[in-house]
Amino acid sequence: MECDTEVVVVGGGFAGLTAARELTRRGIEVVVLEARDRLGGRTWLRETALGRELELGGTWVHWIQPHVWAEITRYGLELISSPQARVGYWRVGEELRTGTAEELLGKLDVPMATLLAPSREVLPQPYDFFPLCEELNALEPVTLADKIAEQQLDPEGYALLDGMWALNFNGDPARSGYTQALRWCALSGGDWTLMFEACATYKLAGGTRSLIEAIATDAAGADIRLGATVTRIDENADGVSVSCADGSVVRASRAVVTLPLNILSSIEIAPGLGHDIAEVAAEGQVSRGFKVWARVRGDTGPFVAMSNSRSALTYAQYEYPLDGDSLVVAFGPRSGEIDLKDPRAVEAELRTWLPDAEVVAVDSHDWTADPLSGETWPMLAPNQLAAVTQAARDTSRHIRLAGSDYATGWAGFIDGAIESGARAAQQIITEFESEK
Ligand SMILES: Cc1cc2nc3c(=O)[nH]c(=O)nc-3n(C[C@H](O)[C@H](O)[C@H](O)COP(=O)(O)OP(=O)(O)OC[C@H]3O[C@@H](n4cnc5c(N)ncnc54)[C@H](O)[C@@H]3O)c2cc1C
Repeated sequence: MECDTEVVVVGGGFAGLTAARELTRRGIEVVVLEARDRLGGRTWLRETALGRELELGGTWVHWIQPHVWAEITRYGLELISSPQARVGYWRVGEELRTGTAEELLGKLDVPMATLLAPSREVLPQPYDFFPLCEELNALEPVTLADKIAEQQLDPEGYALLDGMWALNFNGDPARSGYTQALRWCALSGGDWTLMFEACATYKLAGGTRSLIEAIATDAAGADIRLGATVTRIDENADGVSVSCADGSVVRASRAVVTLPLNILSSIEIAPGLGHDIAEVAAEGQVSRGFKVWARVRGDTGPFVAMSNSRSALTYAQYEYPLDGDSLVVAFGPRSGEIDLKDPRAVEAELRTWLPDAEVVAVDSHDWTADPLSGETWPMLAPNQLAAVTQAARDTSRHIRLAGSDYATGWAGFIDGAIESGARAAQQIITEFESEK
């Protein structure tokens, strides 16, 4: 087969662009095919209806996330902190409780520490878990809901722990894999407060766009094509033919496919990728919720708010002041449950914590409904870990899977996307060198 390029990368998010950079820096020819009219995938800093640019997708990063931290160091980027919350609001059933933010997080301390206690024991080296040991295998069918129920907490403890995991998975704790929670905590040295800090405290001063642009600039040798929707990949003995919706075909020796797991089956791959990963893709991962921004009239002051997993919004926090108003970010576990375009609908939910809140504008992007993502951040359900890890490590094919869903470490994060893109590229570089 005559090739048009050496490697085709499908997707121009953090995984795809990292792979393209690593490959082009070694002199390998790369074509990146990205269906959207922009790079960045599930990270998107854009002007919003609230009156300033905001992150619609991935945002927070941390120095305990080694791959994103290496990029921040490499490009000399600065971090800023989200405001330290002073007040905490939480709901127990219909009842609203108020205290300091410290008091609210303090109430979670024992339940969270208990839930995550086995993390270091089960995953002493969190990047080295495959093939799954007996203990991890035994925990694979367990859900977060199972582990929360086990603690027999009082209604307040239950509401907070259940809400915390509906937030972390951006989905239903009854579908959320316990081993994924243990992986997060093991990567945070077994300390849940550090894990929580890593999830929602520090962000890039120039936004995620600053990092995407830095990586894309470094991958300038790649032929990056926007608006290029891949529809099928045919693999033969020599490589791959990647077909796009506009009828164009790119032939290459390898393809790195960075599609989110929930939409993996949206492209035809022949021969098929194999039973286990096809089954996991059909079942889908857990994160089918949303992130929404609201501009609230007046100064709410820095706060954090939580509710249980049955609430439309499980979490909210104050992020920025703007001309005397407050910009609040909130998360809910079920996309489509409320109309995110309707300020009144979001206001009604925020009022369960802030009874006087008046929402003057809202903005969001529905990643779950978006056919190019189908999920928010990658979070595995029970019994998916082995199949996903196996598929990510399958080097027997010309097609390689990468993306945050497939990360060995911080799966679900920007860090995991960078890790998996770099890993896929390095494998291909090694193969090309050995073929010389
Ligand atoms: C609301 C939200 C909040 C988040 N918060 C955080 C956070 O605070 N911190 C953090 O670290 N992470 C966060 N994440 C997760 C993080 O953003 C993702 O894990 C990461 O950006 C995924 O990168 P990726 O390259 O693996 O996938 P993607 O970014 O999804 O990239 C895949 C690319 O493939 C493209 N594509 C899809 N189908 C096709 C096709 N057929 N043909 C061509 N191209 C196609 C897509 O358009 C996309 O650009 C969040 C995500 C969301 C959605």
